[in-house]
Amino acid sequence: MKSIVKQFLLYRYHRPRRLFSTNIVTDVTTTNNLTKTLANKVALVTGSTSGIGLGIAETLAENGCSICLNGFGENIDEIVTSMEKKYNVPVMYNGANMLNRHEIKDMIENDIKSTFGTSVDILVNNCGMQHVSPIESFDEDIFEKVIQLNLTSNFYTTKYVLNDMREKEYGRIINIASTHGKVASVNKSAYVASKHGVVGLTKTIALETAKDTNITCNAICPGFVLTPLVAAQIDVIADNKNITFEEAGKDLLSEKVPSENFVTVEQLGGLCSFLCSDNAEQLTGQDIAVDGGWTSV
Ligand code: NAD
Repeated sequence: MKSIVKQFLLYRYHRPRRLFSTNIVTDVTTTNNLTKTLANKVALVTGSTSGIGLGIAETLAENGCSICLNGFGENIDEIVTSMEKKYNVPVMYNGANMLNRHEIKDMIENDIKSTFGTSVDILVNNCGMQHVSPIESFDEDIFEKVIQLNLTSNFYTTKYVLNDMREKEYGRIINIASTHGKVASVNKSAYVASKHGVVGLTKTIALETAKDTNITCNAICPGFVLTPLVAAQIDVIADNKNITFEEAGKDLLSEKVPSENFVTVEQLGGLCSFLCSDNAEQLTGQDIAVDGGWTSV
């Protein structure tokens, strides 16, 4: 008898937080008002001056988030101003080089906090690069740079945001991995290794935050998205085969993607917003493919 009581007490103590929630089926509260949930949340999207990162930042801004843009390029002031005007939310820019952990720390612990008066709620680890070469001729420095930018930077950003997320009892970490976090392709050793690493890191973060209130970590694994990163690869195919950019794009898609379509940045932004919602509170540790069926083959 004694041991049953002990087991019950142990069970109560260790029970999943939500098990005895009074919010059972009859008590349905509206938790899907995305704009309400995301209003005034601070979102840091790394590598958001172009491509996927910019698309995700736009969608989060549309849903009311304050945005910290990051990355390199021209016309960044214009991007900041037009985003602020279009979505009526505060937008800042920090040009931290994601290869430098001191700059990452300073962006997260000083610049964002002093600009917005609060810490990061939503972290989208998006910055990344590609390099295509057979292993024998793969430049060693470039290999290390790809790993550092695509994988190691995600570790540092996460390390610097986690304590504040725990204190706020809300946090979303979304790692933009790739189909190449699930399957490989020839001549992409650094990219494939880094993205498989991102998927592993995602699962570890999810486990380490599983008992925290309302913190999740997931990876999104896009197929081909027509951004400067992929356009550069299409250019190479076009040159090698002496065909047009459009024909080379079709070649690239038909080789890998059953739907023969590019994923759009809006589709990825929509998924990110859902992952940030209250309805996604128990969705954690996943590597979600958005790839037109590529990894189903
Ligand atoms: P992109 O080249 O358009 O954007 C990359 C962004 O990273 C830019 O804003 C750039 O300024 C920034 N950046 C590069 N080096 C940086 C550094 N050292 N410090 C800070 N910022 C830096 O690329 P994209 O296609 O939008 O890719 C974004 C992410 O999505 C990458 O992680 C990529 O691996 C991933 N991804 C892309 C595709 C695709 O088809 N485009 C598919 C799957 C995954």
